[in-house]
Formats: sequence, structure tokens, C-alpha cells
Amino acid sequence: MKILFAYRNCESLGIEYISSILKQNGHKTDLIFDPGAGDVEFKFNTVSKFFKFEKDMLVKIKHFSPDLIAFSSMTNLFPWVKKMTTLIKEQFDIPILVGGLHPTASPLKTITYKHIDYICRGEGEYPTLELIEKLESGQSINDIKNIWLKVNGKIKKNPIRPLINNLDELPFPDKDLFFKYGAFSKRYYIMAARGCPFECSYCYNKQLKEIYGNAPNYYRLRTVDNVINELKWALERYNYKKIYFYDDIFGLNLKWLKNFANKYKNEINKPYKCLLRPQNLTKEKLSLLKKSGCQEIDIGLESGNERVRKEILNRNISNKIMYKNLYLIKQSGIDFSTLNIIGNPTETIEEMLDTFEMNYKIKPKGALFHILYPFPETTIYHKCIEEGDLDNKRIEIVKEGISSYRSHPIITRNYDYVVKFNIFAPIFLKLPPFFKKFLFKIPPLKIFRIISIYFLTTPRNFRLRIFESLILPKIA
Ligand code: SF4
Repeated sequence: MKILFAYRNCESLGIEYISSILKQNGHKTDLIFDPGAGDVEFKFNTVSKFFKFEKDMLVKIKHFSPDLIAFSSMTNLFPWVKKMTTLIKEQFDIPILVGGLHPTASPLKTITYKHIDYICRGEGEYPTLELIEKLESGQSINDIKNIWLKVNGKIKKNPIRPLINNLDELPFPDKDLFFKYGAFSKRYYIMAARGCPFECSYCYNKQLKEIYGNAPNYYRLRTVDNVINELKWALERYNYKKIYFYDDIFGLNLKWLKNFANKYKNEINKPYKCLLRPQNLTKEKLSLLKKSGCQEIDIGLESGNERVRKEILNRNISNKIMYKNLYLIKQSGIDFSTLNIIGNPTETIEEMLDTFEMNYKIKPKGALFHILYPFPETTIYHKCIEEGDLDNKRIEIVKEGISSYRSHPIITRNYDYVVKFNIFAPIFLKLPPFFKKFLFKIPPLKIFRIISIYFLTTPRNFRLRIFESLILPKIA
């Protein structure tokens, strides 16, 4: 069977794993990829308009003539998925499957969209393979675990299958799929683990865990050897310069990290970046990270206010531990950037300023201040509704994914302050203390929004997306 994946923005490890399993079982796969030039944290509409890929994608479908088209969708990619599925169905009679976090968390919203035939909830490797094999052999596809579909006008909701317990059994992700579109020409994405043991109120992990019946094996690690083998294999093939560990929290297991640090240094020895949570840091961990080659850390600071962290974000970390551990990173000599959320339900302006202050004191290399995006059905989404921060219009916007962290603030609480904070905090972090008092005094003009982007990591992403967009037509 021929399966054509469709994705926008950046490389998708989820798609790469599914493609690998399908290829291993004799199926042919390809990709229609829209680098999404223009949509980084701030949407550059003019740039987006300049790079339009819809036509090329339809031509590709015609040439590849797939038996199934498979999308992966985060919530904020759903508008693009709807647009593309509509365009596809106008010209082709090909079944469409949508997997990823959005159909997992909002299955009904996704499957009821008229141009979507099947959705996949949870891990997609084996359900997609079973679907393809059954479609090929003409068997009934009605009872495939994780797959929901429309049968005689009704939604057939199949239960979820157990998690893949041994991640080492999976083939290495099919990187070729994205590599030919330049999608990771500058960095190699890899996951050493799946899942996260924590339950932050704004994160999909809690829901995912619940969907899997709070399975004790929700957080799973690959063996160090398996990870190292992939990196060696990939180095020969793609000659990457830098690695990005895409785990929700890297190196949670100290025994694993010790083993990894040794082998990585000896056998790979490339700079890498990873994501960490402040609560789980120790001097020992940071020294292992540093020795092994960790060059950069993204750290989920989220809020500088203890009440907001504990009561609203469900991150049980005191200010004392936060400062202690953030200074530990500083002392380790590893560059770090913070990830922050503003516009939280019940958050006052003073509490929001605590987030600025914490960042100001620790002086990270970069700081991203996301306006809260309450993903549908997360704990914080319900809290926002309860507190009146999401009105009916905004609930629909959130459910449809018609928004982004920066360009369409969806929160009503302290709206003007949140917007100004979002724009000016990255700039004011770099200025002497005297300027702090002007944080909310400048009008949030578009020009300032654009300037503020240059204080984030976004310009790098923006450059990459433009680069990918430029090389795409030559090789597609
Ligand atoms: S620690 Fe990170 S990945 Fe884990 S639940 Fe919290 S936000 Fe999600």
C-alpha cells in the first residue's frame, strides 16, 4: 500500500516512527511537507502568502497516488489540516486519517469533520499498520484499537491498546522522509523517552495518561545503547552537527543518565540541547549533562510566582528550590533559556511581574513568554472557563486551534497587560533595572512585536523555515 503523510512546520518524530514501521512491513511512504514559513511564534502573514504549497501538494498526491493520506495534528495545526483535507477531497477520493495530540484529546471534534475518515488516538505505529494491512486485505477495519471511524453515519469509538512497553523494539525513525525536504538540515531530533510522570495543568500528558488508564509504564525509556546506535547510524547518513533531545524531560532517571553520559561522550561527542524541569535538577545531574556535551538547556520556569505555580499550574516547586536549581544551571556553565506562561487564570499583574523578576535575577540566555493556550480539556482549560477567562467565542477558537501563542491572545484576564508583557518582557530583560518601570507604559505596536522577536530563539527557527521553504520546490 502507498501512504502519503502530510505535515506542516517542522519535522515530526511521530510520523517518522509510523513511516518506519510501515516500510518495515513492505509499504511505501512519502510526505507532503509545508515548512510553514511565516508561522513561528509570531505569524508573518506576508511571508506565509509568499510561500504557498497547496498546489504543489495536490500535484504530489496525483503523482504518488496514495491509498491513504495521513495527517498528524497538534491543536494549533488543526485549521491547516481542515483546509488541506477539504482541498484534497475536492479532487481525490482517498481516505484520510488524522492522528496526533489533537484527535487524541478532542476525538469527537476531529472525527466529525466531514473530510476526515479515520482518527488515531494515542501511539500511532501499530494502529496505523493494522489499518493499512486490513485495508489492503479487504478485512473489516471497524474494530482496530485506537482508531475511531465513521460507520453508516455513526462514530465507531474503538478502545485504546496498551502502550508500547519496549521502545527498543521500534525501528529507528524514518528520517529520510523529512531530510529530503531540508527539515532537519541543521539539527537532529531524537527522543530517548516517551511520556512524563508529572501532571502539569496545562499539558496534554495528564489526559494522555488517563486515556491509557494511568498505566504505570506511561513514562518509558529507550536503552542507552539503542539511543547511541541510532545516533551513530544517523551521523553516517545525515552528518548532523547538533542534536536536540525532544524528551518531555531529559535524563529523569539518574542511573540511565550516568550510563548515557559516558557512552555519549566517547561514541558521539556532539553538542546537544535538551528540555528540563527545575524540580529535578541536582549538581550531579548537571555535571553529567555538561561532561557529556550538553550545550543548551530549555528550562520550564513557567511562573515566578509560587501560588500560580502550585495552585494553577500544578507544579509543586517552592521559590526556594526554583532559585536554588536555576542558579545551579548557571553555575554549571551550560547555556539556558526559560519557558514561561503568562495570562494564567486568577493570575494578578503583580504575580505576572514575579515571572519577570525571577527571569531578571537569573538572567537566562533567552526567555520565551507564552500567553497561556488552554488546550482543550486540560485541567487549566476547565479552570479558565470556571474563572470566566474563556468566553464562548474563545472556547470555540481554542477547540478549533485557531490561534497561536503570540499572535492571537485568547485570554480575557488583564488582556492589555498580558499582551504588553508578552511583547516587551524579552526586551526589558536585557536592559538595566531603571527601565523596568516602563514595561507596561509603551503601546503594543506591531513594530515592537517584531523587534521583540529578535530577543527570542525565534529568528533561528524563522531562518530555518525560510531555508526549508526555498529548497522545497527543487526536490519535491
Ligand atoms: S513536566 Fe512538562 S511534559 Fe511533564 S506534565 Fe509538566 S509540562 Fe507536561
